[in-house]
Amino acid sequence: MSGLTFLAVHAHPDDEASSTGGTFRVLKDQGVRTVLVTCTRGEYGDAVGGVKPHQDEHDPDAVAEYRKGELAEAVRILGIDRFISLDYRDSGMKGWPQNDDPRSFWATPVADASARLAEILREERPQVIMTYNENGFYGHPDHIQANRITLAALDLIDYEPTLYYNAIPLSVMAQYRKRWEDEAREQREAAIAEGREPEPNDGPPVDDDGEPFEMGTPDDEIGAAIDVSSAADAKFDALAAHHSQIAESFWMKMGRERFRETMRTEWFQRVRDPHGREGLVDDLFVDYR
Ligand SMILES: [Zn+2]
Repeated sequence: MSGLTFLAVHAHPDDEASSTGGTFRVLKDQGVRTVLVTCTRGEYGDAVGGVKPHQDEHDPDAVAEYRKGELAEAVRILGIDRFISLDYRDSGMKGWPQNDDPRSFWATPVADASARLAEILREERPQVIMTYNENGFYGHPDHIQANRITLAALDLIDYEPTLYYNAIPLSVMAQYRKRWEDEAREQREAAIAEGREPEPNDGPPVDDDGEPFEMGTPDDEIGAAIDVSSAADAKFDALAAHHSQIAESFWMKMGRERFRETMRTEWFQRVRDPHGREGLVDDLFVDYR
C-alpha cells in the first residue's frame, strides 16, 4: 500500500461516477486507497422506466432500494475500496416539499452529519478530500449540504488534509451548454415532427433570484486537471450501472467511442492545502508522494 487515501463526499448515488469516476479508477490503479461517502439514498431520482418524482407511480423507497444496487455495481467497477452511505433521505430539488422532511439530508443539522463524517475521517485519515463547492455545483440542496458537512467535519479533526471541489472550467461548460441546447432543440423538433406534445424543458437551474446558475469555475481557478483517459471505459461503465438515472443522459447518447474521446479530463478546484501549493497540478497527491 502507498499509505495514500482519497476520500470523496458525494450527495447521491451516481454523483461518484459522473464527477469523479475517472479519478477514482486512476487513483486505484496507482495504489491509492479510495473511500466514497454518499450522503443520501437518492429517493427522488427517477424510478425505473423514467418515472419522475412528481408522478403518482413514483415510490421513493423503492427507488432508493433500486439505486443501492446500481451504486454497488458502480463501486465495484471503479474499484472503490470502501463505501459508506450516510443513508439520509434525498431532499429533492430546491423548493420541493421534500426539503422540509425532517429525515431529509437538508433538514439534518450540520453538526449531526459532520460528526459522523469526522468519525470516518479519523478512521481513514485521507490526505486528499473532495466534495462540491458552496453552491453544490448547481444548487441542489443535498450537494450544498455535502459541502457544509465536509467543511464542518474538517474543523473536528486533528490534521489538515488537502481539500478539492469538483469543477468544470467555464470554457468547457460553454461547450456542454451548447450540446444541451442542441439536444433540447432536437428533442423538441422530433416531438413536433411526430405530432407529440414536446416534453416540458426545465431549463438550466436557477438561483434565488431566478437567474440561471453560473455553473462552472473560471479557468484560472482550476487547481487540478486529471488525465482520466486510461479510465474512460470504467467511468462509462460506472455511469451505465446507474441506468435508471442515466440511460437517457448525454453521456450514454454519446456512446462509448465518443465518450472515450471527449471525457478525458476531470477538473478540481483546490480550496485548502497545508502545502500552500499554487497553480495547476495533474496529480491530486503531488505533495504526498
Ligand atoms: Zn447529486
